[in-house]
Amino acid sequence: MSEADSVPVGTLTCPTPDERPDLWPWSAAREGGVLRLGGGDLTAVAADFGTPTFVLDVEAMRGRARVWASAMAEEFWDGYGMNGGDAFYAGKAFLSADVARLVVAEGLGVDTASLGELTLALRAGVDPERIGLHGNNKSDEEIRLALELGIHRIFIDSMDEVRQIERIAASLGVSAPVMVRLKSGIHAGGNEYIATAHEDQKFGLSLATGQAYEAVAAIKDAAHLDFRGLHSHIGSQIFGTEAFTEAARIVVDFAARLKAELDLEVPAIDLGGGVGIAYTAQDPEPTSPVELARALAGVVRERCAHHGLPIPHVSVEPGRSIVGPAMVMLYRVGVVKDISLEGGGVRRYVAIDGGMSDNIRPVLYGAAYTATLANRDPEQALELARCRIVGKHCESGDIIIRDIDLPADIAAGDLLVVPAVGAYGYSMASNYNMATKPGVLAVEDGAARWFIRPQTVDHLLALDAGLE
Ligand SMILES: *Cc1c(COP(=O)(O)O)cnc(C)c1O
Repeated sequence: MSEADSVPVGTLTCPTPDERPDLWPWSAAREGGVLRLGGGDLTAVAADFGTPTFVLDVEAMRGRARVWASAMAEEFWDGYGMNGGDAFYAGKAFLSADVARLVVAEGLGVDTASLGELTLALRAGVDPERIGLHGNNKSDEEIRLALELGIHRIFIDSMDEVRQIERIAASLGVSAPVMVRLKSGIHAGGNEYIATAHEDQKFGLSLATGQAYEAVAAIKDAAHLDFRGLHSHIGSQIFGTEAFTEAARIVVDFAARLKAELDLEVPAIDLGGGVGIAYTAQDPEPTSPVELARALAGVVRERCAHHGLPIPHVSVEPGRSIVGPAMVMLYRVGVVKDISLEGGGVRRYVAIDGGMSDNIRPVLYGAAYTATLANRDPEQALELARCRIVGKHCESGDIIIRDIDLPADIAAGDLLVVPAVGAYGYSMASNYNMATKPGVLAVEDGAARWFIRPQTVDHLLALDAGLE
């Protein structure tokens, strides 16, 4: 028996948009039993565009981006004796041309971490001056493109990369703007694989072993590297402000050491992303951008005063917290199967028309999700049943939700909605079982348009040389 089997049916239901507005796009509401998003019925979306489909509430994403930009601008405003602040959207959470333009229009930059993300941002028209490049093993091609186009900054992640960028910048006859990614030693985040600042993981240059110091010293001496500052990203799906402020303190203290020992100014610091969001009713309310920006400003100000340092420009890199809650997944229910459990009782397996190919997070991190029906209100159901939501892939681990209470008469044709899939949903989607990736439909003011079209089988087969 799983833990959930001992919980009475009715306790693992999905919070409504009224109960947990942080879990849902802002426009989500039920009308006549039907769930609406962006001014239209999700039943109509399913009928017109098919399932499975990612549905993005554009205004919700825009608003979330805007709040980050304004929180950073306000809390680090020169008028408060600071030196400016801004936010870069972490494109890996979910990127398309329209998304890149949307965040830029709200005043954010775009962080990329691959040739594909970088090329997309450039082709979408993002000013290279507003693009950052991350990665722990960047190719020469990625670095060359970044330098040729004059992007804002490249985040150096290793001693090898100091030499690699110096070599490429020298060959191009340019000066490369670089920041150094620190391994602060802080262990934070929802899962071992998304915590990124403790010693025994691949990202960053260690403060503890002196690697980071050596890298900065080498950058200072390099003819074609322009030291722009320090970076720290401690992990993802983090709640509260403490882990972030602790990291900020470590970064500023290191900046003081660079000033004292190398006479080097640190003009900017980037404190990364990682702010958590709610996926289920069990998750706490997320930390707001204003709360975090204010806490960071407090620590940066205090530590700089302590060391007698000028206040650096400060940026952050939110991904999940901008797009995660702005998008839902719309599935059609197919087969429903009751399975007898060894200890007695049954488990109702509800299969949907997607699965681990469009949402790998439950399998990859044990991530929990919730769901509700879009075509009728579960609160009107006469009886609920404990269900397990499974996909259509050839793996018994293809589970989207382990335990959720849904109307006992759930049946083929019902529409299942999973909230908070905007981050690391589409961007981690795969073609396992030659599943075609669902499209991302943007809804706003009662209108719908594709941000990303659904893949077809022809797209899948296009690269198969044996079919040419
Ligand atoms: C993934 C990542 C982010 C964004 O993290 P979220 O948890 O999505 O906010 C920001 N910066 C870096 C360096 C990252 O790797």
